[in-house]
Amino acid sequence: MQVFSTVAEFRQACTQAKRPLGLVPTMGALHAGHTALIRRSVDECKTTAATLFVNPAQFGPKEDFNSYPRNVQADMGTFEHEGVNLLFTPSTDEVYPPDFDTWVHAGKLSERLEGEFRPGHFRGVATVVCKLLSIARPDKAYFGQKDVQQTLVIKRINTDLNLGADIVVVPTVREPDGLALSSRNVKLNPDERRVATVLYNALSLAKEAVANGATDAGAIRAAMEELLRKEPLAQMDYATITDASTLEQLDAISRPALALIAARIGKTRLIDNMPLYP
Ligand code: AMP
Repeated sequence: MQVFSTVAEFRQACTQAKRPLGLVPTMGALHAGHTALIRRSVDECKTTAATLFVNPAQFGPKEDFNSYPRNVQADMGTFEHEGVNLLFTPSTDEVYPPDFDTWVHAGKLSERLEGEFRPGHFRGVATVVCKLLSIARPDKAYFGQKDVQQTLVIKRINTDLNLGADIVVVPTVREPDGLALSSRNVKLNPDERRVATVLYNALSLAKEAVANGATDAGAIRAAMEELLRKEPLAQMDYATITDASTLEQLDAISRPALALIAARIGKTRLIDNMPLYP
């Protein structure tokens, strides 16, 4: 595995790489969700490039940038072990030099749900992903279904700005009890960890209802909210059912939809989602 910290060196290595080239952007603190993305790329591409960069631009001023889990030594071992060929680990100044002043705004998709609760979050995501796709010019770029709104925003900028990558969405990897793997899960104490499964349980309730023929999104939303409210340690930001591609809230489930939840468990904010097929 070759490791690069400058844009110029990483770009040159990507230009010379055997094609197809797959790109797997991460913020590190790797878990089995990340390795699922890497494995898919290694499986489908001749060269796999990964990036390890905790992007300050996607954290709000009161969010957990400083306390975000970091585990660079262990991550380097994992990238290498999983077959990553090129690893980009830039400094913040390399990505955002002092005179940096261009931002990518992905419009309506970035204003809903996470965009409402985390103003500026998708501006940071869209900008850094646009930069990474522009530097690496991959044939394919791999992202997790776990962050489904992020995948939709990235598909939008990839199309609108002609970045030319095939955006591949990899299914969510879960713990045996259903909790979606997340770098932030290590912050949960044992009580919070037990309660955190409520997100998956509420999403499963929605999935089961739809599988049984329910189409009233309002009723399912109410049932998800009720389950979340039963857990005093869980503070809900939203629990909703939307169109699967526009993220507009639905009244009736008559086309591919998503159930999405964001909740704070203690001080840790978790998100999860479940595709719904009527
Ligand atoms: P992060 O390091 O949290 O920015 O995540 C890097 C990539 O891994 C993103 O595309 C995430 O959507 C994806 N990812 C995170 N958690 C999971 C998971 N549990 N299953 C699948 N992909 C995931």
